Amino acid sequence: MKKIPVLDLSYEIQELKPQLMKAFEEVIDNGAFIMGPNVKTFEQEAARYLGVEHAIALNSGTDALVIALLAAGIGEGDEVITTPFTFFATAEAISQVRATPVFVDIELDTYNMDLNKLEAAITPKTKAVIPVHLFGHSVDMARLTTITGKHGLIVVEDVAQAFGAEFKGKKVGTIGDAGCYSFFPSKNLGAYGDGGLLATNNSELAEKAAMLRVHGSRKKYYNEVVGFNSRLDEIQAAILRIKLPRIDEWNEGRRAAATRYAELLKDVKGIVTPTEQTYAKHVFHQYTIRVTNGKRDELQAKLDAAGVGTMVYYPVPVHKLPIYASLNVEMPVSEKLAEEVLSLPIWPQLEASVQHYIVEQIIEALQ
Ligand SMILES: *Cc1c(COP(=O)(O)O)cnc(C)c1O
Repeated sequence: MKKIPVLDLSYEIQELKPQLMKAFEEVIDNGAFIMGPNVKTFEQEAARYLGVEHAIALNSGTDALVIALLAAGIGEGDEVITTPFTFFATAEAISQVRATPVFVDIELDTYNMDLNKLEAAITPKTKAVIPVHLFGHSVDMARLTTITGKHGLIVVEDVAQAFGAEFKGKKVGTIGDAGCYSFFPSKNLGAYGDGGLLATNNSELAEKAAMLRVHGSRKKYYNEVVGFNSRLDEIQAAILRIKLPRIDEWNEGRRAAATRYAELLKDVKGIVTPTEQTYAKHVFHQYTIRVTNGKRDELQAKLDAAGVGTMVYYPVPVHKLPIYASLNVEMPVSEKLAEEVLSLPIWPQLEASVQHYIVEQIIEALQ
């Protein structure tokens, strides 16, 4: 049997190939490779889908975070609160703008920032909070914005893993001051290269972000501030325009696969399956279980031997990385979960038969 990967894009590529090839041909024939018609139209289509005023297509999700922070006026001497249980890019963006990351530990069930601990982390230097909708599950944005509103803090949502996810019927990434999406190929809405997007309802922030994207200029060769070259390229925009209309269906496919896993794993001792809070519509970028018997690594090795690919997101919480070691903070929940989490294969078209096989292997490995 062929090895089961953690993500299999071959289903969508197979299905979309004729459309993709036609789009490539159109872009090549048109010859507008940078800031062409597909980028502009994709921005409009993404803004409409998300229900937001402005969508600015960028080179990556990391750049979206950096640009959002800079456009919001965050820099040296400022503190920005986030979670240590995330991909490094979240904290890296804070450090990149010369601000200081301040970590708040996470909840055991959603793997998201523990809002009970947020207020205690706020100091006079705090300027912003970056909630991360990890694995596709929304943070409780009502609670979060009540706290940030009280303290006058900017909210930059890290929506890299949660395109299409909702908080109480609203798309995540459109609730704070800015939402930063990634189109890295493995994300729920992935390009076939790097890409990102900044969504906002704030016109001033949108204008600054659009300037920062092209070397700090509104008009070509009339550069006003030091910016970046952070454009989404035309071919990626054309691909994303083909994929965007399918995202709800694909997210539903992931949700169906998650429901099946939960059913199959419900009586398996030593495994805790992910939760979905009533306020959230989870899009299962990852299906991440906890292995609570201390045998996560052993289970992973056995699954690998049985041809089942899995991943550990994340083996080292960000505050434990050497570059942040000087912060010298303890985040017990994140540290515990780094030892327990295991992400199982998931994609929109994942077949029930494959999930049955995966769960059989899990049960066997745990015996
Ligand atoms: C992927 C990811 C990013 C970075 O996005 P890129 O497009 O790869 O730069 C940021 N934050 C989180 C949580 C991510 O998963």
